[in-house]
Amino acid sequence: MASRASSATIEQIRQASDIVDVVSAYVSLKRSGRGFKGLCPFHKEKTPSFSVVPDKQIFHCFGCGAGGDVFKFVQMRENVDFPDALSILARRAGIDIEETQTDRRGDAGPTKSEIERANRWAVRWFAAQYSGLVGSGARGYVDERGINADSVERFMIGYAPGDWESLVKAAAKAEIPRQLLSAAGLTKPRDDGSAYDAFRNRLIFPIVDTMNRVLGFGGRTLGDDAAKYLNSPQSLLFDKGRCLYGMNLAKEAFARQRTAVVVEGYTDCILAHQHGFANTVATLGTALTPAHVQLLRRYVDEVILVFDSDAAGQKAADASLAIFLGEGLDVRLAAVPEAKDPAELLVSAGSGAFAAVLTSAMPALEFKWKQVSRQYHGATTGPDRRRAVEDFLRLIAGSADLGSCDPIQRGLILNQVGKLLGLAGDEIGRQLRIVARQTPDRPATAVDVAPRLLSRAQSSAAAAMQTIVEALLNEPALYAEIEDEYDPALLPDDELRQIAAVFAQLSQEQEEFNLARFIGRFESVSAARLITALHAQGEDRGNHQATIADCRRRLRELRELREAEDIVAGIRSGAIGVEQASAAATAHHEALQKLQAIGAAAGKRSNFAARRHLAAPPTAGARPGNPQDAE
Ligand SMILES: [Zn+2]
Repeated sequence: MASRASSATIEQIRQASDIVDVVSAYVSLKRSGRGFKGLCPFHKEKTPSFSVVPDKQIFHCFGCGAGGDVFKFVQMRENVDFPDALSILARRAGIDIEETQTDRRGDAGPTKSEIERANRWAVRWFAAQYSGLVGSGARGYVDERGINADSVERFMIGYAPGDWESLVKAAAKAEIPRQLLSAAGLTKPRDDGSAYDAFRNRLIFPIVDTMNRVLGFGGRTLGDDAAKYLNSPQSLLFDKGRCLYGMNLAKEAFARQRTAVVVEGYTDCILAHQHGFANTVATLGTALTPAHVQLLRRYVDEVILVFDSDAAGQKAADASLAIFLGEGLDVRLAAVPEAKDPAELLVSAGSGAFAAVLTSAMPALEFKWKQVSRQYHGATTGPDRRRAVEDFLRLIAGSADLGSCDPIQRGLILNQVGKLLGLAGDEIGRQLRIVARQTPDRPATAVDVAPRLLSRAQSSAAAAMQTIVEALLNEPALYAEIEDEYDPALLPDDELRQIAAVFAQLSQEQEEFNLARFIGRFESVSAARLITALHAQGEDRGNHQATIADCRRRLRELRELREAEDIVAGIRSGAIGVEQASAAATAHHEALQKLQAIGAAAGKRSNFAARRHLAAPPTAGARPGNPQDAE
């Protein structure tokens, strides 16, 4: 979401928000050299690898790669977007920013905070109905499910009466604009222009985020409505694929335990909290989405997904395998026995039984393997087992998510696959290649040597480009020395390419470089993380001038190579005539030699640090050559 605050306002807020002060509110910092160190709030560690550099106004963690300026710190710590981080820091500094600057989206519709205020009013009103005369049925149901009074209060459980206009009338009395109620999804319009209550005769579960904003509601019918559960419709504030129920109450436990337990239902979540599993959240009737995972991974290193039926388990296994392969977050799966849901298990058998379910949780990869081998009758030996292994590997090889992993991450995953199947790492690699060749939509790799060498030279050049950006972030003035070879288009990663391009633009405009302000040009947390990681990588390497000279040579090689490739292609296509053949043949020979030399060199430099690798979580190994990675 684009912020509408002016850049002058943003700068004013930045000036007023010293990063050491802001971070100190969350992390206990100790002075160390020219900066400060502390235990990273974004991953679990025992020795501090989180540092804050006051003169650059940035933070960076050598353990997990988190990094950025003061806005990014608040974005990550409070799990909010840029405009919200801006208003948090503005409020802290006593700077007035017009709500409309950060909130309003062009038209004159209600803003996020207006909707939130309407929701907040509704929470109080639903709660009053729940404790009132009209709420006796709701209280009976809650009692029956084993939810106690303390949980009712903490989760702000409410009741929506069954007649069609209770909320509409109460809101009119409280002078809440009708337009707001409808934008919040609390009412629905009739043809004649009047409105009726969207939630009727339902137990109400307010959905609250980590900043204690009421985003929307879930409602469980207490009658015989065909829709057992109903959620608020999508609004400016509410997106059910991105929200998790109970985040506000689980946040602290996440920080302590670094593990999230994800259940399916509101009552499952409430009863888990009531029985001491405070790190529990619930999806809102959807499968776990990548957006959920991105939300959770800011707080935890591992997710335990609890489901209560075989069909749900099947779906959960596929979704979590994709998440494990794609997002690099550890996902384990646990089934509640006897087709009970977690709430029923907790009430009937207590917290010990639920703890045992969590302990029995199985890694997503293993879970999927069990499923596949079950299809081959257990498949412990012989042809059945071979077919099961092939099927399983085909599943892994075919995963687009695995393809987007960086080599290190992929190596780690293949290692785990090997352990699971009892096969050596290179045997897995060999089998995967065979399976990949059998997969029809994956054409066999080109047999041509030259294109392969060219592509290796290209990745060498891409690595060189990245190294250049790393060095320039530390010594921006060196841009002039590399300007003619500097080519962001060589970079395969979108975000990295954009960072390189913005850097070039600033240098061409001769703007004075400031790292924190540079980070501020990108609103996403991932860009900030990448920039600080690149900066740190460059700082570690040092020797910026020599580094840039070396990279410049590698970029030139690629350029010459491409020119040689053109000649080779010309010979092949016949565009180069007979009379030129002899000259071209020499060129061809030289070109091939060059290709081979560069190919060999590129092979040696194959430790190309792709951004996911740079930014990989600590479990996935970390930046090469940094002794502080070991914890
Ligand atoms: Zn960290």
